[in-house]
Amino acid sequence: MNDTERTQTYMAENVKEVILLKYGEVVLKGLNRSHFESILEKDARTRLKKCGNYKLTSAQSTMYVTPLDEDAARAIGKTAEECTKIFGVVSVSIACEIEKDMDKITAFIGGYVKSIRNGAKTFKVTGKRSDKKFPYTSPELAAICGGAVLKANPDIKVDVNNPELDVRVEIRDYAAYIHARSIPGAGGMPAGSAGKGLLLLSGGIDSPVAGYMLAKRGVSVEALHFDSYPYTSERARQKVVEISEAMCDCCGKVNMHVISLTEIQEAIRDTCREDYFTLILRRFMMRLAEKTAKKVGALSLITGESLGQVASQTMSALGVTNSVVKSLPVFRPLIAMDKEEIIRTARKIGTFDISIQPYEDCCTVFTPRHPTTNPVLEKIEAEESKLDVDGLVSRAFENIERIEIKA
Ligand code: ATP
Ligand code: MG
Repeated sequence: MNDTERTQTYMAENVKEVILLKYGEVVLKGLNRSHFESILEKDARTRLKKCGNYKLTSAQSTMYVTPLDEDAARAIGKTAEECTKIFGVVSVSIACEIEKDMDKITAFIGGYVKSIRNGAKTFKVTGKRSDKKFPYTSPELAAICGGAVLKANPDIKVDVNNPELDVRVEIRDYAAYIHARSIPGAGGMPAGSAGKGLLLLSGGIDSPVAGYMLAKRGVSVEALHFDSYPYTSERARQKVVEISEAMCDCCGKVNMHVISLTEIQEAIRDTCREDYFTLILRRFMMRLAEKTAKKVGALSLITGESLGQVASQTMSALGVTNSVVKSLPVFRPLIAMDKEEIIRTARKIGTFDISIQPYEDCCTVFTPRHPTTNPVLEKIEAEESKLDVDGLVSRAFENIERIEIKA
């Protein structure tokens, strides 16, 4: 039975299909739980608007998405997929909503399993009685429903340890819900609930993933990109705009700022030791990022650095880079991740294919042949002091540009 046929059968039986969105960590919140819940609902409503005509209600640590017309009922599978992007939701299930009446439940559940089992040979029923006034306990509910499934599907067997199909029957306050198809949700904390963070966004694979990981913890991400025109091209900058646009679907709106490092890079090239180029440049990036964060009200910096990935990401190099940041935490969520894991996430969030387009980045302009991997802070500082650091920073910062990103 395909999705449309199944929806029609349920409609004929007066059973509605709804989507259940279960909260994650939000349930652990104390007094400000309702604040987090309202952010979650707002995000859900924004996403549902794109999907069709649905009603959203909340009760018992769950949001209920109910289709309001036939088109919405037919599109429920796609809508459930969209709901997996809501931060703060840990599981998404398409459930059949049915009256809290044991006869009606047992009359329905056998045919329900037939319609969704898709060749499954084993099953179990898990009962969950949240409404304690319901006259059957959770184990009784599971046993009675299991019997009804066996009667309607004589060739299926019970396997309580490793079933192919885990059928859940939940007796909640307003109705009973039967489902067997949960998809993991995005998890994390509701979008934007943690405040703003400034992501240093290059055109590479890593930084969009770093932004996504913090967005998942409730950070509203704003991006800062450094270019080095004319050493980097207009097309390279456009690529980063496209990455920001792609990030919006998962991370919420990601506005972007651009600062040119041309004068700074030329000064470093003309004045400093070649093996220190990259690290001195990265310290300028961090200073400018901290200033930008202050300007836009961001409370942290976020980078895509991963320990040992390149010369500037050894522990001592990161220490040298980090030491110029005075007043903000620097989040490096990829620090312990392997490239393979990072790539998997980049594919999931839809940035990978854009990131691998071969355009230059300011970090690849004037790259040293043998960058230092074990720098000593004092030596880097001494080399850097040959430059007019404050003047270079303020001139670069004066020309910051803001780019409005189309979500
Ligand atoms: P990515 O794949 O994100 O480019 P990377 O592995 O190439 O990262 P680096 O180029 O060393 O690593 O940069 C480390 C981090 O510094 C990036 O993840 C990003 O946060 C920041 N960064 C690098 N280049 C830029 C840039 N042009 N603009 C803004 N941030 C940058
Ligand atoms: Mg890079």
